[in-house]
Amino acid sequence: MDLYEYQGKELFRRFGIPVSEGRLATSPDEARAAAEELGGPVVVKAQVLTGGRGKAGGVKLADDPGDAKRKAHDILGLDIRGHLVKKLWIEKASDIAKEYYLSVTFDRSEKKPLFMLTTEGGVEIEEVAANNPDALARLHVNVLEGFQPYQGRRLIYGARIDDPSEQKQVLEIIGKLYRCFVETDAMLCEINPLIVTPGGEVKALDSKFTVDDSALARHPDVAGMRDVEAADPLEALAREKGVTYVKLDGSVGILGNGAGLSMSTVDVVVVAGGRPANFCDLGGGGDAEGVVDALEVIARDPDVRSILFNIFGGITRGDEVARGILEALQRIDISVPMVVRLDGTNADEGRQILADAAPANLHVEPTMLDAAKRAVELAA
Ligand code: GDP
Ligand code: MN
Repeated sequence: MDLYEYQGKELFRRFGIPVSEGRLATSPDEARAAAEELGGPVVVKAQVLTGGRGKAGGVKLADDPGDAKRKAHDILGLDIRGHLVKKLWIEKASDIAKEYYLSVTFDRSEKKPLFMLTTEGGVEIEEVAANNPDALARLHVNVLEGFQPYQGRRLIYGARIDDPSEQKQVLEIIGKLYRCFVETDAMLCEINPLIVTPGGEVKALDSKFTVDDSALARHPDVAGMRDVEAADPLEALAREKGVTYVKLDGSVGILGNGAGLSMSTVDVVVVAGGRPANFCDLGGGGDAEGVVDALEVIARDPDVRSILFNIFGGITRGDEVARGILEALQRIDISVPMVVRLDGTNADEGRQILADAAPANLHVEPTMLDAAKRAVELAA
């Protein structure tokens, strides 16, 4: 789960990482009131779950409350990389002398947390990694040993931060960020920029924070930060029904049992010249209830022009799935054609059930490739 900047900063604050004072606002008037409370110049920042807000016009400085109101008016409603701005974070403006970058994430190949630190902050880290790799200090943490201050110092020397006061502050922030990362079960904690003010104070001006979904049960407070409104309505429906569903941008709705088969189905649709509208995994079960739930999610997507239902029966029985399909067709209104490929345990019985009922708009194909071709044709 990704957190908004203001939520990430709230967690940073809890772990003692310096951040600026701010307020949340959802209207220009609230932004003005927030600026009044904070006093002095503020920065008005779009709260969306994507980066690059600055470049997209979603981060603006304001001199006084009236100006904050105007900037809020400009930013609210902006579309930033497909994310509509509904919330603003109004923060006391900082003077910036330098912009650094600090993050901790997982390096899956090393199976260790990875710190990255560079004095070339403010820009996208991929750019630094590509154009100036020497400027990017990297350090893996041994999880059994835990984070040790000498590692922080090594990171700081690697990034060639040579001011003693900055070294001391950055070292503390690194230690706190590691605790924050571990204790919130985060997958990414990124500070870009980590600024140095003209007075020499180091603090986090931005936050990018991702928490492991599977660990949310251990962090009810973080789980409560989920923004239900911002979630894609279909993904929210899928979550509610316990269906594994990822929206894609094509027109063939995909339903398979098991993640592997569902992914292969995505591939085979592409091979057949089509574009998948989603990835949907029924899981190992495939009983009538599960089929109804999954079809309900897929059929609600207006981009879906045909549905490819790909089942290989192992534990899942073909006859059970066939009955699930028929029940789903009775309970929900599916206006697009559906192509079914059924193989494995009790596949013959399943096909027979479908042939006997012969629902309109349902096509049974013998192989995965035939089914994909048919679904692509029907979506055209
Ligand atoms: P992002 O573009 O989504 O990464 O948003 P950031 O929060 O990183 O802000 C983008 C840029 O706006 C930063 O790199 C800063 O240069 C600038 N900025 C943000 N907050 C302040 C502030 O308080 N004062 C000043 N002077 N600039 C700021
Ligand atoms: Mn940033």
